[in-house]
Amino acid sequence: MTKLTKKVVIGNLKMNGSLHFNEKHFSDIKSGVNDFSDVDIGVCVPYPYLFQAQRIFQKSNIFWGSQNVAKDSDGPFTGEVSVSMLSDFNAKCAIVGHSERSTAYCESDENIALKFSALKNKLMTPVLCVGETLIEREAGIMERVVASQINTIRKNYGKNIFADSIISYEPIWAIGTDLAASPDQADHMCSFIRGLINDTENNNVEGLKIIYGGSVNSKNALQLCGLESVDGALIGRGSLNAEEFIKICQIVNSI
Ligand code: PEP
Repeated sequence: MTKLTKKVVIGNLKMNGSLHFNEKHFSDIKSGVNDFSDVDIGVCVPYPYLFQAQRIFQKSNIFWGSQNVAKDSDGPFTGEVSVSMLSDFNAKCAIVGHSERSTAYCESDENIALKFSALKNKLMTPVLCVGETLIEREAGIMERVVASQINTIRKNYGKNIFADSIISYEPIWAIGTDLAASPDQADHMCSFIRGLINDTENNNVEGLKIIYGGSVNSKNALQLCGLESVDGALIGRGSLNAEEFIKICQIVNSI
């Protein structure tokens, strides 16, 4: 399991890239963040590019992972990719529950909980995405929505399943919109999530990182990631531009 001890920046390339594009993009990122020792940096790539990510990022300060994983270990599950297949490429993490999957592919909280547990069983780091829609925020029920997403995992496996994991608070209305949450909103929800999991002051879950995702860029990274309650960021579009991604990593490295 990757022990993450610093603020974390993770790129989510989504369904972008090609062998040709990645070759330069990954190499540019690798050399651009080479000197940053105060931030943990990861890149989540489409499955076919895991080998390329492994080849380019090995012997660097960047870890790599996928954007989804199967809940099952093997068997007749056409199109699925298991945790141990990810491990074959030395992947350290996998995103689970991203809203672009739960919305478009009707992924249930129960399924997401199984994926989370499958990753933990093989000592990989889950990057669990949680967050509310705009309608839910306007109705003032964002805490209830996020609590229900997290509690599905907690009730099945107990709170210590969250040790050495990442939870990314990603309000759905902020993803891909250029409407990032305000620092107050991010602070409130990341603190809420921490309180929900660490229910008593003296009994904190170890190694849990709570990060923010949704339209983070080099202009708002300092305000958002500089918050004590926010352990870093999940970066979508900003990770497709090496210069921008490196800038964000540099800002977080300097916090
Ligand atoms: C994401 O896809 O997780 C994300 C945060 O996207 P963007 O940064 O493009 O809003």
